[in-house]
Formats: sequence, structure tokens, C-alpha cells
Amino acid sequence: MTAQLVQGMPKVELHRHLEGSMRPATILDMFRNNLGMYRDTPLEAILPKVQVTGDERSLPDFLAKFEFFMGCIKSAGDITRITTEVIADCSAEGIIHSELRFSPAFIRQLTGLGLIGAVEAVLEGAREVPSGMSVSFILGSPQPQGPRVAWDTVRIARDYMTAGVRGVDISDDTRIVGLGEYQAPIEWAKSEGLGVTIHAGEAEGPESVRTAIERLGATRIGHGIRAIEDSKVVRLAVERDVTLEVCPTSNIHTAAARSYETHPLPRLLDCGVKVTLNTDDPGISGITLGHEYGVATEKWGMGREDLLQMNLTAAAAAFVDDGRRRDIVAALEAWGRCPR
Ligand SMILES: [Zn+2]
Repeated sequence: MTAQLVQGMPKVELHRHLEGSMRPATILDMFRNNLGMYRDTPLEAILPKVQVTGDERSLPDFLAKFEFFMGCIKSAGDITRITTEVIADCSAEGIIHSELRFSPAFIRQLTGLGLIGAVEAVLEGAREVPSGMSVSFILGSPQPQGPRVAWDTVRIARDYMTAGVRGVDISDDTRIVGLGEYQAPIEWAKSEGLGVTIHAGEAEGPESVRTAIERLGATRIGHGIRAIEDSKVVRLAVERDVTLEVCPTSNIHTAAARSYETHPLPRLLDCGVKVTLNTDDPGISGITLGHEYGVATEKWGMGREDLLQMNLTAAAAAFVDDGRRRDIVAALEAWGRCPR
């Protein structure tokens, strides 16, 4: 399958972090404008600090990239700019429906904005979405901050449901506070009509996937690849019709998987698990969604039909209203009927 064909294919992406999708040039700009730093430093010199170099060995190594550059973000205007640029980048990658996640609590730490101000700064950046494209936002609560922040986050998510917020997530290293601690706020969010996707089966093993499904009621799992370590958890995911948001290159960069060749995605598909392809933090990983499709074709021998099927799976699991879902499916099916 040629790169051109992948580029022209309409795509649905469910798992991309706003903060991890910043353009390196924008990071440098913000360091210069907001902090007066790196004025004479060329972009190439900053890249190893903000993008994966291949020397990372763990999720904390990967998260250290965020820690380095996040301090350059200072204002609502910065958040709005980042959002606008990420949406433009998604559109350029052929994504017709994008689900972008961010943590209002994290933005509050960086900018001093309140949680509401953080959400509004993001939504401001999504005022003008390219035609034919839709964007749903997912509000994440960072693991280390505990259930109180999760409650604040899910309440704001509920308040902004009509403004484009469609789901909630618990993100970051899930080993810090037990996932089960988040049951009450996440259950409440679900009862209010928000979609639930939870990071699990990445830093932690299959039991975290079980907790996310059984106790937090997740219909989607961020990563979830380590479910493969326990056949009962794989069966649970199949029985409950759970969709995994798999991000192959990110999994290698955080050491959740050793290599593309040994990555569990093809085995999960063979077991009947619903799987989608995503980038996670494309700015830090230095990739596009098309790159991940290239991995699927070159490393796992997938073809056009396989990619189309994963997009239809993503459309079915997307946090959108049914009218938009029908349009997305129609666009995918129209592409599927195109002569190759
Ligand atoms: Zn993620």
C-alpha cells in the first residue's frame, strides 16, 4: 500500500493528547516569547529534548519530554494556538473525525487559568474546524492528582457537553494511584452521558484493563495492549465489546512493547478484540497517523481492507452523536468503494 494511498484515506483517530501534539517550532516560539529562552538556539538543537531520540527506556523517560517543555506554555492564547494547530495538523493527515484529549488540571498548573478557563481556551481554538471534519474533546484527569481532581474534571466535562466535550479519561502513569480509586467520579460521568475511556494496560498489566472495564465502566481503553498477558482479560474485552485505542510507536517509546515485530496488536485482532490505530503524542514521538498505518502495512502485512475495518471500528466507538457517526461511516465506506 503506497504512502499516497494512506495519505488520501479518510481516518478516524480516537487517542491523541493535545499537549503531546505540539509542533516543535511552536514550543521554541513559546520558550522565546514567554520566557526569553533559546533565542539563538536553532530548532534542531531543541528537538532531542522534546522528541523521542531512541534512548528512552520507560514511560517516565517519555513523560520527561513533557516536563521539559510544558513550562513554555503560559497563557490562554497559547492553549488556543496549540489547539488550532493540532486540529490543522489532524486535517492535513486526512483525519475526518479527531478525538483530542487534554487535562484541564494540567493546564491550570501551567497557566494559572482555572479549570473552566482551561477548557474555554481549548474550545476557542476549535471554533473553526476544517470543513468535513469533526472534533470531540475528552477531558483527562492526571493519575497522580487523585480522585478529587477527577471529580472537578468530570463535573466540568458534564457542563461542557454541549460545547464539544464528549468523554473523560484517567491518564498518565496509572501505577501512582490505583485506578479503582476513580470509580465514583467516572461512574458519575458515565451516568451523565459522557463517554469513558481509560488509560490502562500500558504501564500496568492486564489487571488494570480489568479494573477499567469492570469497575470504571470503560467502553474504550487507552492502549490496553497488555491485556494480551491474560487470556481472561482478552475474553472480557471481547465479551464487553470494548475498543482498544492502540498507539504502536508510542508503546515502543514508553517500553510498553519491545518492537513492532512483537507488538500485540495483530494477536489482539486475531482474538476478536476491537482495535483502532492512533498516535497518542505525535509531537513527542515525531510521527503522524499515516506513519502508524505504514507500520500496520509494512510490519504486520495489513492491507486496505484491514485499515478500513479499523477505521469503521473507530467510528463505531467514537464519542459523537449518531448523525455525525453515520456521516463518518458513509465517508469511510465511500473510500472503501473507490477503485484502487
Ligand atoms: Zn495516551
